[in-house]
Amino acid sequence: MGNCNHTRQTSPEWVEYECDWTGETVGYWEEGGAVSTTVDVDMHRYRCTQCGEVMYYSAAAKRHYEEGEENIVSHSIQRNTHNGGESDGNR
Ligand SMILES: [Zn+2]
Repeated sequence: MGNCNHTRQTSPEWVEYECDWTGETVGYWEEGGAVSTTVDVDMHRYRCTQCGEVMYYSAAAKRHYEEGEENIVSHSIQRNTHNGGESDGNR
C-alpha cells in the first residue's frame, strides 16, 4: 500500500525522422521519464489509473464529493461521526 506515486516510468525510445535540410534520416533518443497516470473523472476530481485513488483539485471539491447532499442530511440526523479512517498522503 502507498507505493503508487501516480506516475509511470517510460523507457527511452529511438526516434527517427527525415531532416528537412539534408534529406537524411536522422534519429535521436527520446528520453524516458515519469508520466502522470491520472485522468480526469469529473470537473474537480481525477483518478489514478494505476491504483484507482481518487484525488481532488480543491478542498471544496473534496467536501462536495465526499459529503454530498444526502450525506449531509443523514449526518445531521444520526450525528454519526466516523472520522479516523481517512488516509492522506500529503506531507
Ligand atoms: Zn496511483
